[in-house]
Amino acid sequence: MEELDERWERTVKALVGERLIRSEEVRQAFLKYPRYLFVEERYRGYAHVDEPLPIPAGQTISAPHMVAIMLELAELEPGMKVLEIGTGSGWNAALIAELVKTDVYTVERIPELVEFARRNLERAGVKNVHVILGDGSKGFPPKAPYDRILVTAGAPKVPEPLVEQLKPGGRLIIPVGSYHLWQDLYIVEKSETGEIRKRRWGGVAFVPLIGEYGWGE
Ligand code: SAM
Repeated sequence: MEELDERWERTVKALVGERLIRSEEVRQAFLKYPRYLFVEERYRGYAHVDEPLPIPAGQTISAPHMVAIMLELAELEPGMKVLEIGTGSGWNAALIAELVKTDVYTVERIPELVEFARRNLERAGVKNVHVILGDGSKGFPPKAPYDRILVTAGAPKVPEPLVEQLKPGGRLIIPVGSYHLWQDLYIVEKSETGEIRKRRWGGVAFVPLIGEYGWGE
């Protein structure tokens, strides 16, 4: 573990140097939950590399820089209610939970990954993440509305239910674009009076969001 920790600390330092991690809170969360805790044993030695890695069911754990960018754009604060769509390994959900210090809801459509994420989260000692099996393109109405919704899969357009499930003053971070490569990362904000404003951050590459308000099966 010592070697893995040292490599991970170097990765975090590099992300801070590149101004991709900007806040002390995000830096601390990254150090508390290294990416190697959320990949299969055979990929642990690569977890510090700033690239996506395979996880079961043909999906990916995002590259550290991408996770840092999305977390910084979300401007998470303690007490915020957050929904993540696309649990995957559970790593991003663990980081979100560390930043908001309260319950986090995360939806995954593949049962094998629901189990994978739950195991990873348990092993890492994360207690306040609720992993839900389902189609996250519909959001998660039982706990709506949310201060923040983070989508870690690429949608063909912004799913209307996710906008509806934002609180006034809330923010949705979502990649929108083509099925494979590429998408644009959007920041969708709902004002206190309910107006919607969309900003484009830049180009990204995510696996597709598959579901009723995403791409077809
Ligand atoms: N956030 C993840 C992590 O920290 O490991 C990485 C997510 S991976 C890039 C995208 C995930 O979105 C995949 O696990 C995929 O199965 C999931 N996904 C795709 N469409 C979905 C949907 N409609 N609802 C829920 N999850 C979905």
